[in-house]
Amino acid sequence: MTAANSLVRHDWTPQEVQSLFELPFNDLLFKAQSVHRQYFNPNEVQVSTLLSIKTGACPEDCKYCPQSNRYDTGLEKEKLMEVEKVLQEAAEAKATGATRFCMGAAWRSPKAKDMPYVTAMVKGVKEMGLESCMTLGMLTADQAAELSEAGLDYYNHNLDTSPEFYGEVITTRTYSDRLTTISNVRDAGIKVCSGGIVGMGETVKDRAGLLIQLSNMPQHPESVPINMLVRVEGTPLAQETDLDNFDFIRTIAVARILMPESHVRLSAGREEMNEEMHALAYFAGANSIFYGEKLLTTANPEANKDLQLFDRLGIQPEDREVERCDDGEEDRIREQIQQAQNDKFFYDAAQA
Ligand code: SF4
Repeated sequence: MTAANSLVRHDWTPQEVQSLFELPFNDLLFKAQSVHRQYFNPNEVQVSTLLSIKTGACPEDCKYCPQSNRYDTGLEKEKLMEVEKVLQEAAEAKATGATRFCMGAAWRSPKAKDMPYVTAMVKGVKEMGLESCMTLGMLTADQAAELSEAGLDYYNHNLDTSPEFYGEVITTRTYSDRLTTISNVRDAGIKVCSGGIVGMGETVKDRAGLLIQLSNMPQHPESVPINMLVRVEGTPLAQETDLDNFDFIRTIAVARILMPESHVRLSAGREEMNEEMHALAYFAGANSIFYGEKLLTTANPEANKDLQLFDRLGIQPEDREVERCDDGEEDRIREQIQQAQNDKFFYDAAQA
């Protein structure tokens, strides 16, 4: 075992993780950056684009979420997007430099009749030479296998917070439901994207508890999104108090130390972070961002702001790991889009 490999552990104790959170800020950041350099080029950040393929009217009661049908947030409900429209958006994301295209639907779980549409989206995105990622709610083992068969690279399913604090935030699905979906995804051979949200009124112990759950999985999630709560008017967490920015950076740094091989992703809440916060997060080990499109339903800084900051910091977008498609494939994709239009490949999820 190399020294670097020995840093990848699955047996973190609450005391160890709590001690990391309690380190002086500079010591913690130095440690996180030292670990980061052993596994990643510190001057590269992976970029993904996220598209909401079905917005709002979700039956779940996640207290932070404007898409829940239990809260009046003024969010416009949308039907499941047409396949050809999703593929057009993916092509645009590719043109602006995204290497991964993530598609999110506000469902408790996909229904059987949804599956042909979402698998068609995965196939189309893959054929463009982009990595594909989906977040569709809870998945059965069969649904995970179907998505894997279609070529899905990543599935996002967040744990959100610690098992102890979880019941304060969501009551319509259990922590164990979430772990089952993650395990179904992993068993199907799909890479796992799983993280949480900070700033929901949880304690440092809860942040440690979330990261322990993720880092003590038999295999660490390949992507770990760390979201800052976006307080949306109409949701029960709209009046939550501000999280200290340094506590957010500490969470990034501890995630980096606990899961050295994972991409730690800056996700929701970036709009409220200035350039200095972004730079500090990159130093703490964040090496993935969503850019370009809206991050589901919360505003996201425009892509060019990110690229300008990358330039000022000497950061390069990380190369995609999948091969680029040639011109012949591009033509085929265009034909596929045309075919989909002809077929009126459309499904009204609102009638589900
Ligand atoms: S977080 Fe997901 S599951 Fe929860 S209410 Fe929002 S869309 Fe539904």
